[in-house]
Amino acid sequence: MTDAKPVTTLRGVGEALALRLRALGVQTVEDLLFLLPLRYEDRTRIVPLGELRAGQRVAVEGDVQLADVVLRGRRQLLCRIADGSGFLTLRFFYFTAQQHRALAKGVRLRCFGEARRSTMGLEIVHPEYRRIDATAPLAEIDQLTPIYPATEGITQGRLRLLMRLALETLSSAELPDWLPAAVLADARLPSLRKAIEFVHRPPADAPIDQLMDGRHPAQRRLAFEELLAHHLSLKLLRHRIQSQPGWPLGAGAEELKGALIAALPFQLTGAQRRSLAEIEQDLALPIPMLRLVQGDVGCGKTLVAALAATRALQSGRQVALMAPTELLADQHAQNFRRWFEPLRVAVGLLTGAIKGKARSSLLAGIRAGQLPIVIGTHALFQEGVDFASLALVIVDEQHRFGVHQRLALREKGARDGHQPHQLIMTATPIPRTLAMTAYADLDVSVIDELPPGRTPVQTVVLAETRREEVVQRIHTACCAGRQAYWVCPLIDESDEMPYQAAEETAAALAAALPELRVGLVHGRMTPAAKERIMAGFKAGAIQLLVATTVIEVGVDVPNATLMVIENAERMGLAQLHQLRGRVGRGQHESACLLLYRGSLSPLARERLAVMRATNDGFEVARRDLQLRGPGELLGTRQTGLAQMRVANLLRDADLLPRVQIAAEAMLRAWPQQVPPLVNRWVGRRELYGRVG
Ligand code: ADP
Ligand code: MG
Repeated sequence: MTDAKPVTTLRGVGEALALRLRALGVQTVEDLLFLLPLRYEDRTRIVPLGELRAGQRVAVEGDVQLADVVLRGRRQLLCRIADGSGFLTLRFFYFTAQQHRALAKGVRLRCFGEARRSTMGLEIVHPEYRRIDATAPLAEIDQLTPIYPATEGITQGRLRLLMRLALETLSSAELPDWLPAAVLADARLPSLRKAIEFVHRPPADAPIDQLMDGRHPAQRRLAFEELLAHHLSLKLLRHRIQSQPGWPLGAGAEELKGALIAALPFQLTGAQRRSLAEIEQDLALPIPMLRLVQGDVGCGKTLVAALAATRALQSGRQVALMAPTELLADQHAQNFRRWFEPLRVAVGLLTGAIKGKARSSLLAGIRAGQLPIVIGTHALFQEGVDFASLALVIVDEQHRFGVHQRLALREKGARDGHQPHQLIMTATPIPRTLAMTAYADLDVSVIDELPPGRTPVQTVVLAETRREEVVQRIHTACCAGRQAYWVCPLIDESDEMPYQAAEETAAALAAALPELRVGLVHGRMTPAAKERIMAGFKAGAIQLLVATTVIEVGVDVPNATLMVIENAERMGLAQLHQLRGRVGRGQHESACLLLYRGSLSPLARERLAVMRATNDGFEVARRDLQLRGPGELLGTRQTGLAQMRVANLLRDADLLPRVQIAAEAMLRAWPQQVPPLVNRWVGRRELYGRVG
């Protein structure tokens, strides 16, 4: 590999510009070429003024007829140009006297901008424009014009120039194509050089609509490469982890597992049994397990995790369970204590809220190996927490953590050259090909069955004006011995309002339902206060729980049968599905009431209709994907996938099967090309820094 050329090797790039480029992650000439256009404009065609339509972004030419400064509310410069077929007004709010003078009658201009309708016919506000001089004509524009992401202190013109210089400066050898020719031929994609040249300088006749949609073969080639790089990075991680030994947790003694199952008031479902068998097979090997258990809300993942834990406990080793919220960590601790304390296995709970003496004695217990099971939030994996012999790490609701925390945790667990086994649990249902990319480092078990005896949750969509009926329903349910949730959404995380809104709602509901015991829980409360309220709800002392979306994940109170969600139209379907999953957990019939405010947009109406139509998380996810694109569902937050530069998981989903095939081929036949390919697309610090 040749040494990378720094951007300063480009003509005209000094320290100041290099610094600005660095802020965009651009250090080398190659990096620069991977700063890709957001969109394109066609300036090759001069549109006659008579054909101009409002809303078009176009290039036009005309002669100045007049230019006047007027005061219409605001001081502004109006300039009228004409070309024989029609005329156009150019409007400037910011201008210099010199600019005004230069727009003399008869001067010919070429302008670019978006035409819009005004009281004086069509106009362009602040067009880009240049004077055309008969003796020195403007260079013909013979390419589509790329528009780059907004960059502090660097103009579009400057960037275009830099790109041209970069393309001229870098030889093909200096822009290596890490995709083998055979892989490219299989996928029918152009070479890297061709693709890069095309996206930065598309010819005038290039299909602009296809380019704007990101579906041009040149863009598909880059998207393919990016998806491949991400896929390979996860494969490499898996390889690195599994090249270290894990503790083989063989079948041997199974008393704990047997005792736990014997104490359950129900039977495991077939799907729970199957997943557990897959996990047990992995655990028996001296290779660290990397397994994801995917299953819809309420399918019983926690129990599967507890049964898996018995393998480590039986071998005298420790288990850590990490949950995304204190609320959930607390609930898991209660469940695990209920299951394990009768079997004389101690369970510790470590969250950020546990401080001082309690914390230090907990940490000592973990270090000495006296606590076989430790449950907590991410506090589990912070400085100062050392396990004596950690053999299994369980991560619940992994989509809440993201890839980085998941990886940080792997390092933490490593001891004596051994890596702990990892069991990751998620209720985020994502389509299969996508799962294979997002979780390329994990094996997947699916729990596709709910425990028997559950009645499907009935979902109703209601205007908020029908609040009284809703209150009546709560009254009826609670008087029949059931419990209810009322969720006030957190519209903006930084906003104080939702807490107030939740407080006000709780007060209003308490007033409307004086015979009921109403509780309130939200993220700003102290952990102890939250815990007290949740314990009260769980015990039935609180009948109606008003909450923010803190109760979104994991909370399990089978006697709750009514879920009311306010402003449901503002929430993602995945989130609504999670919230709805808090009811329908017992044998009683449950309902979920989705309240909306004002009138619904057609899209919002359709999305809420999806919730009404199905209780199946996979189906909800599929429809969500269709209706609004990958967004939240497939974003960083949910899958742990890093932000992509070119690829779009929805648009480019059809590439994924070939990406997987190409990844295998590369690992097998061209392994030396894998690290540089990954480095090009996946920030070194993001993945390697932590695992290396
Ligand atoms: P999730 O998969 O959403 O994490 P949980 O583990 O919270 O689901 O389980 C939901 C509820 O179902 C819990 O109350 C749990 O005790 C119960 N449960 C788990 N497995 C079974 C089963 N096989 N039969 C009946 N109930 C079960
Ligand atoms: Mg759960």
